[in-house]
Amino acid sequence: DIITRFAPSPTGFLHIGGARTALFNYLFARQAGGQFKLRIEDTDRERSTTQAVDAILAGMSWLGLEWDGDAVSQHARADRHREVAEELVVQGKAFRCYCTHEEVEKLREEAFAEGRALRSPWRDGGTPPDDRRFTVRFRAPDSDVTLNDAVQGEVRWASKEFDDLILLRADGNPTYNLAVVVDDHDMGVTHIIRGDDHLVNGGRQAQLYDALGWDRPIFAHIPLIHGPDGKKLSKRHGALGAEAYRDMGYLPEGLRNYLARLGWSHGDQELFSDAELIAAFSLEGLNKAPARLDFDKMAFVNHHHIRQADNTRLLALLMERLEGQDGLVSGAVANARLTPAMDMLKERSKTLAEMESQAYFLLRERPFSLDDAARKHLSPDALARLSRLRGVLAAHNDWNSESLGTVLKAFAESEGVGFGKIGQPLRAVLTGGAPAPDMSLVLGLLGRDETLARLDDHAR
Ligand code: GLU
Repeated sequence: DIITRFAPSPTGFLHIGGARTALFNYLFARQAGGQFKLRIEDTDRERSTTQAVDAILAGMSWLGLEWDGDAVSQHARADRHREVAEELVVQGKAFRCYCTHEEVEKLREEAFAEGRALRSPWRDGGTPPDDRRFTVRFRAPDSDVTLNDAVQGEVRWASKEFDDLILLRADGNPTYNLAVVVDDHDMGVTHIIRGDDHLVNGGRQAQLYDALGWDRPIFAHIPLIHGPDGKKLSKRHGALGAEAYRDMGYLPEGLRNYLARLGWSHGDQELFSDAELIAAFSLEGLNKAPARLDFDKMAFVNHHHIRQADNTRLLALLMERLEGQDGLVSGAVANARLTPAMDMLKERSKTLAEMESQAYFLLRERPFSLDDAARKHLSPDALARLSRLRGVLAAHNDWNSESLGTVLKAFAESEGVGFGKIGQPLRAVLTGGAPAPDMSLVLGLLGRDETLARLDDHAR
């Protein structure tokens, strides 16, 4: 059975790189009908916070990355980590190191000067000093380490490149590499997809698997995400939490689709449904070159998913965002006005944030004031014409965009002016200058009463 995992350290939110790592592990497990597990790497007690755990869980839930079983706390497993370390000591594959901090510093300098990693003198035994605290160190094997990485290919390290790694600190707490290996083994993890900032750890962990006589999982170390300029991802670039993308108005399926294509490809297909992602995902499609964040593409992909989304669901998301905004009608009135507008809004909005601004003209509470650009269209001539148009509209019975389009055109002809001379002032009074579609659509969506009332507010 295929088992993957996501193993975030709860020191911050679920940032976009972590979300992508989780997504890849999720897709791979779902495709195989296997399991996707979540482990919270909370061994660093000072930096781990419950708020961060909550933020990560919330981010995963919003993104729809459901994990199997309960989230595992790494900290809660410290006894098991100690037990495995002691086993290695018994087998002579690890040892107690009584070096003081100063001694280690000195040894490290010597090792560095000789171009090799640290070896503790205690690896060969000796009589322990009284009352001296010890760490438990791994006895780095004399042989080279080879990792057959699913993305990086064969990676090799010489024996001298790896320290006698600390497994248990002097306070008895396990270190990262020990905890990860023990947990991944005990959780039955078969495949580890993670950032290539952990590649060297992959080599160290491979040594531990071998020493423990455990089968190594398959490692796939993926290049980190870069900013649009090719540089390391920063906050300014969008190294933000999942909830920041939600707030920017991305749909979870839009972000999933975009993130999946960020460092993974399947021919030149850009747009995927969830089912297609699960079916198409493969380790072979993971790219060796770092991917760059591209917000235009993110918006393009999201627009596709907005178009695909169910109107009722989008309406609820939109209402949630609009709730409590000043100067807008709300509740049932807003609902009734937005419902028939959803197809238009979907076409015109790449994100829910854009949808908010596209919906704004519909929901404006009357009377509203016009912006300067709108007011410029209201010359005395234009106002007189609008008031004649009001008469025509008030007498028009078949209130739908199509017939209203015909009415507007016929009115412009009867006035002997181009359509712009009608459209611009009409747009000004009906929208106040807010973004809006064709005038016939605006009239149709506002309805007769609201249209006439807005005309009366400004062109009477
Ligand atoms: N906790 C590590 C991190 O957040 C990940 C460890 C792993 O995936 O093996 O970077």
